[in-house]
Amino acid sequence: MGKEDRMKKKVVFFTELSRLHDALENFDIQGFTGKTVPVKLHMGEIKNKYFLKPDFVKIVVDELKNQNISPYLFDTTVAYSGLRHSKLGYQKVTKLHGFTKIGCDVVIDDTGKFVTVEDREYEVADHLVESSHIFALSHVKGHIVTGMGGAIKNFGMGGVTKETKQKMHHGSKPVYHEDACTYCGLCAKVCPFNAIEIKEKTWKISTKACFGCGVCVDACKSKALDHRGADFQYVLACAAKACVQGKNVIYLNEVKRIARSCDCDPFAGPIICPDIGYLVSDDPVAIDKASLDLIHKIKPDIFEKENHISPFKQIKYGEEIGLGSSSYELVEL
Ligand code: SF4
Ligand code: SF4
Repeated sequence: MGKEDRMKKKVVFFTELSRLHDALENFDIQGFTGKTVPVKLHMGEIKNKYFLKPDFVKIVVDELKNQNISPYLFDTTVAYSGLRHSKLGYQKVTKLHGFTKIGCDVVIDDTGKFVTVEDREYEVADHLVESSHIFALSHVKGHIVTGMGGAIKNFGMGGVTKETKQKMHHGSKPVYHEDACTYCGLCAKVCPFNAIEIKEKTWKISTKACFGCGVCVDACKSKALDHRGADFQYVLACAAKACVQGKNVIYLNEVKRIARSCDCDPFAGPIICPDIGYLVSDDPVAIDKASLDLIHKIKPDIFEKENHISPFKQIKYGEEIGLGSSSYELVEL
């Protein structure tokens, strides 16, 4: 075995849930025994059709219970308005979506503690800070801000408080340099929120509509746009690291119902790739890279085409800051 092979992280791939037990045996699931463990997942926006289904989550929860682990479902409140903005509202959504009937508690956090990564502070949800062991259940699908959402996104946005979520978006809003602008209109064309308007020789942004995704900054070939603070996918990877560093985490990605947009979106668009299956790993970068590679085998560059942004940026940044490794060995069950 060469040096490169030894550094590869294991990612287990399977298509039948009956192999879940065998998949988990490849990782330190025994270390979770006897512990109360948050199962970090997104329980779906109202009207979204594609979020993780309670029947699937119940199978995972039952498997954890069989291994003498005490799981509870866990997520955080969101920055935008709607039911999931408050703890009470999100609890109502979990009931509506059937997550209160699967035989374990459902906990929603609205407060956190600050953790510093790469000189920036991220307020990580209390229950994650307090847990030594975490089980991550992530639905892999498209995302209009990050190209794709998987394990990194599940923590980078889903593991921090709504105040930190807001700050991360604000810090990625564009700064405009008029002298470099050619008024080509590309930024306005790619903006998923129609926040930019160009009329003759005027460039205007609606700061209210802008979500701070940074797609326009990447699109501008004339260097007329910069990130206010940092690229959104960079702070996403840093926030994910703030949530999981020093913890024992097992990640399970469900690569199914792959829509153009995410589970926060009531109108997530059409399915853009056939169902693939499930992956398990103890490395969030490796599992997201493996998920992306499997999707690209069937639909090359699908997220770049649909969302005008590379999903590989979060992988690259995640590797650079030591969140995980993009080098992996895929073990098929
Ligand atoms: S893409 Fe760049 S150069 Fe083109 S209009 Fe937008 S800011 Fe100006
Ligand atoms: S950062 Fe995103 S939402 Fe804001 S103007 Fe640019 S493309 Fe639009």
